[in-house]
Amino acid sequence: MAGNITFTMIKPGAVADGNIGAILAKIAEGGFRIKALRMTRLSKEQAETFYAIHSERPFFPSLVASMSSGPIVAAILEKENAVQAYRDYIGATNPANAHEGSIRKLFGKSIEANAVHGSDSDENAQIESDFFFSGFDRF
Ligand code: GDP
Repeated sequence: MAGNITFTMIKPGAVADGNIGAILAKIAEGGFRIKALRMTRLSKEQAETFYAIHSERPFFPSLVASMSSGPIVAAILEKENAVQAYRDYIGATNPANAHEGSIRKLFGKSIEANAVHGSDSDENAQIESDFFFSGFDRF
């Protein structure tokens, strides 16, 4: 059965562009409820851990550098079938291919600086949520 939470991050480029508020507004507009929210910055080591699944990919060093280049906003979102619903909502990995009106189309700049992260499975939504939030910070 599909779970009802997913994990997202507003990536450093979108934060630097001043788009935290606009992206949170789009998230709310999509019917996703915020269960946890936090602004922080990833160290290089934390970014490597978060994206460990991509460690053999040629873009890994660049991805780690960009994800640790400035503050991010992490959030746990709730909606029915949250993982798939949010991936559909944010659009394709490459903003150039993302559908009109999607978060990545509106705020992404490149395949790497694509504005937001969205979990790709219920299992990873749990792992990623636990990476950023203790039980005290979830509502
Ligand atoms: P996602 O699930 O849509 O975020 O995509 P992936 O799990 O495949 O990739 C994780 C993240 O790595 C993406 O959100 C991008 O920031 C980055 N990324 C993916 N593919 C590429 C690529 O070909 N080049 C670069 N530079 N970054 C990429």
